[in-house]
Formats: sequence, C-alpha cells, structure tokens
Amino acid sequence: MKVTFPRLGSMHIFCKAIAETAGIPYILPPETSRKTLTLGVLHSNECICLPFKIILGNFIEALQMGADTIVMVGSGPPCRLGLYDLVQKVILEDMGLHYRWLTIPPRFSWKALWKNHEETKDLRKELSARNVLFFPYGLWMGWKKMMACEALERLAMKVRPMELKKGETQKRLKKALSLVDEAKTQKTVEEAIQNGKTLLQEMEQDRSRIPFRVAIVGELYTVMDPHINRGVEQKLGELGVEVTRTSWFSTHILRSLRKNKADRASERVRFFEASKAYLGYDVGAECNISIGEAILRAQEGYDGIVHLMPFACMPETTASGILTKVGRDRDIPILTLILDEQEIEGRIQTLLEAFVEMLEWKRKAA
Ligand code: SF4
Repeated sequence: MKVTFPRLGSMHIFCKAIAETAGIPYILPPETSRKTLTLGVLHSNECICLPFKIILGNFIEALQMGADTIVMVGSGPPCRLGLYDLVQKVILEDMGLHYRWLTIPPRFSWKALWKNHEETKDLRKELSARNVLFFPYGLWMGWKKMMACEALERLAMKVRPMELKKGETQKRLKKALSLVDEAKTQKTVEEAIQNGKTLLQEMEQDRSRIPFRVAIVGELYTVMDPHINRGVEQKLGELGVEVTRTSWFSTHILRSLRKNKADRASERVRFFEASKAYLGYDVGAECNISIGEAILRAQEGYDGIVHLMPFACMPETTASGILTKVGRDRDIPILTLILDEQEIEGRIQTLLEAFVEMLEWKRKAA
C-alpha cells in the first residue's frame, strides 16, 4: 500500500506527518507545476473548475510514481467539489491507472462513517498493528505541524510588507516550513516553530512603514494554494500589503468536526450572519462567507478586499456580483481575480499593482 493525497498549500506536511508517524507508506505528489496542470487539463472537461484539474494532475503524477491508494476529501451539493471524487475515479479508470479510493467525509455522520468503513475494508487488512497503534499519534502530530505551518504563514503575512529585501520573507518562510516538515517528535516540532519564528522576525525590516490591510476572500482552494492563485498573497505582501485570510486547513477541519463555536471557526459563523444583509439563503461553498467577511472587514477599517475565484465557479460567481454592491455600499475597494489555466501571472501582477496604487490614492485623499 502506498497512499497519496492532493498537494495543496502546506496540507501535504499534515498528511505526510500522519503517514510517517503511523509508518504508513506514502507517495508525495511532486510540487504542483505547469506539468501537473497540463495533465489535469488534458484529461478534464474544459468547463470544470481549476482546483479539479490541479488535483487530478496531482493524482496522475502520484499514481505514475507508484502510489496505489488515493485519499481525497468529499463534499456535498451544490458545489462541484461533491462530484470531484466520482468524476476523477472515472477519468483515472479510463486512463488505465489502478488505485483504491478513500473519501474523507466533509461532515462526520454515521452514513459517512459506514461508507468509510466499507472503503477501508481491504486497506485495513494491509495495515500492521504498528500502523493502527500509532495512527492517533500520527493525527496529533499532523495537527501540531499544521498549526505550526499556519502560525508561520500568518507571521510571514505580517512581516512581508516590511521586508527590505524583496522576496526575503518568502525565502525564510520556505526554510521555516521545511524545518517543521522535517521535525519528527513533539520536541523538535516546538523547536522548529521557535526557529522558524526567529528566522522571520530577525529579517531586516523597515518598521516605520504603515502597510495597507487587505483581506483575501473566496473559494477555499484558490485562497489557500499559492500555485492556484499564482502567489497572490506573496505579491500583495511585496507591494506593501498586510494580508489576512480566514480560510486555513484547520478552519475547514474544525468545520467538518462541527466545532463551529471554536476560535477561528466561530468567525465563519459571524461572516455567515453578516452575509444575511444581502443573501437570504446558503448558496454553498464559500459564497456567503466571502460576502460576510467583506462586510465585516469593511466595518473593521480594512483598506480593501481581494476576491479569488476559479473560472466558472458557481458559488463565487454569485458572490462576485453581490460583492460589487458590497464594495459600493460600504465604500471598500474590492478586486475580483478570476483564475483559470491560462498563463496569467503577469496580468495578475499588473492588476494587483493597480489595486495597491488605488489604495494609495484613497489613503492620500482621506
Ligand atoms: S467552490 Fe467553485 S471552484 Fe470550488 S469546487 Fe465548488 S464549484 Fe468548483
């Protein structure tokens, strides 16, 4: 058995930690590249959303490297994510690739647990006593590392607009995340967090700068994965913007566990409530959250909102129309970026530069 999983943001560090700690063999898909996207695009319907194509590309690359078991998150309607696993299975079978599939349910229910039980029947026979025994510890280590990665990424968002040498934060963040990834015990994870924080804080900074505050909202994969969003977070930071986002893997895991009242997950409840000023029902995926977050960020005095959405994403297409009105009503600039498989890196850079320039004019005029 060799398990694999999608490669999105720093999520692979979490999955890798579980597999390594529990002693489960795994294949890490290569870092998402043009080749990954090309493979995904080649084997998908052109109208399907971008995350589908990238995840499919990750799976094809991992299966070609020898993986035989795919672990994928599921979802429900109306978002197409609910159909990802069904459609991807058909495509991979048509390609003659052999694999077993394990869906992680989006919500833990008896029905989902039963499905999971059925899917893992064969897999369980291949697990050793050590795998089973260490699995809970693996989950704990994965969680610890994920929280460490998120803390470091948040710190990078804070210091990036102050950096004196462009690109230095990104270089140091990469190093800090690799320290967490390489840690094998609780003690070394703690040390990796400390060393990573020091690495970022000790960077040469111009602390007299007053960065713009911008919230990134939108479809969750597009917000969380720098390959999908072409490094929007980094680009904005390097233009002097302190970025905030509330879409993190931990937020979505807590949501799946129905821990909606806990810390960051409770923010989603606030955003959802705020969205009711414009929407009378739950559109699905992140639509209501994008709208609610934009409203509350405007109230909190943020300078702007960047809304990210994959081309043809139904929930975020709905959100983008409403966000135009939110921007006008609440006097907050909102930039929607529609992402697809085209080479649009230069275009995104230009749009972000123009957006930040507009924030500068607005600040001067205030
Ligand atoms: S939220 Fe949009 S992009 Fe994401 S899976 Fe659903 S339809 Fe596709």
